[in-house]
Amino acid sequence: MPTTADDREHTALNSPPPARLTADALLSVVVPCFDEEAVICETHSRLVATLEAVPDLDFECVYVDDGSRDATLNALRNLHRADARVRVLALSRNFGNEIAVTAGLQCAAGDAVVVMDADLQDPPEVIPEMLKRWCAGVDVAYGVRTERDGETRFKRWAASAFYRLLNRLADVPVPLDTGNFRLVDRKAVDAFLAMPERDRFVRAMMAWTGFRQEPVPYRRAARAAGETKYPFGKLLRLAIDGIMSFSLVPLRMATWLGLLACGLALAGIVYALVLRVFAAVWVSGWTLLFIAVLFLGGVQLLCVGILGEYVGRIYGEVKRRPLYVVKERLGFAPAGRPPMRDEPMED
Ligand code: UDP
Ligand code: MG
Repeated sequence: MPTTADDREHTALNSPPPARLTADALLSVVVPCFDEEAVICETHSRLVATLEAVPDLDFECVYVDDGSRDATLNALRNLHRADARVRVLALSRNFGNEIAVTAGLQCAAGDAVVVMDADLQDPPEVIPEMLKRWCAGVDVAYGVRTERDGETRFKRWAASAFYRLLNRLADVPVPLDTGNFRLVDRKAVDAFLAMPERDRFVRAMMAWTGFRQEPVPYRRAARAAGETKYPFGKLLRLAIDGIMSFSLVPLRMATWLGLLACGLALAGIVYALVLRVFAAVWVSGWTLLFIAVLFLGGVQLLCVGILGEYVGRIYGEVKRRPLYVVKERLGFAPAGRPPMRDEPMED
């Protein structure tokens, strides 16, 4: 019998994890889709084939249409008609991947939820391995990309550099080379959903929730069809969002730049005085003055810009707008009530 707190903790750590894949356990798979008509049906059939092969697994697929301009929503409606496990949440316009994932997580009823891209870059075949970890007591099993097929060398380099920079700057360690592809236990999903912020960098927010997190290595495939929705500009925005939301280092940089400017000015003063005293000359010259003025102006504008980024974010938060607007819901229990598994779904 454990007596002391230490003993009790030790016993808790060594006790077998609670059985998770019970008869009434449900797995939800959240898939954000933006203009994915070329690939969505193939994604669904591969996903279903993989999940049906897991014995006794009850699952639902939550597709979030993020304001697609092509026939994605129609394809999703057809999938829903053909398969009662398909739920569709259509947003009123494009809100971005991170918001679409949040919307999907809000609607997912599962005891565990998988988040997966629609373009088959995150292979559904990795999910059974994630499930195994979950059954062994892991709360967040996140996919780590060991190799990335079909991406340009520059994108791979930029992604790798970004993840390392983020890790240095962020308040919580964010796993390297990790996207949104992961399996998350209900309690971590609820912790994530309790975070109300608008700038949602899902992978880092998940890291923030804590719990027992483990990597699942996988080879990131090339996009099955269609084009990336993340050109360089959008990726850069996402990177800036990630850093700003999880770090105050850019703000502190202002202080360091200020100190640097003061140090340089001091050095200049000493230099001028030494020349005056020992060589009896006054330092003169517009060039030096010009450089100093430009340097200080640059530093100040940069700092105002950084400050502006944070103030802009505060402005966005205080408006308290809803994160997204829903246009259509298919296969969910009526809004306002928690979904129950065995009741007839609205259509
Ligand atoms: N996506 C989305 N909204 C967007 C952009 C992308 O829901 O505004 C979805 C997209 O359909 C895909 C996932 O997010 O399922 C990842 O996007 P993509 O494959 O284009 O990004 P990449 O893998 O090239 O970084
Ligand atoms: Mg992709």
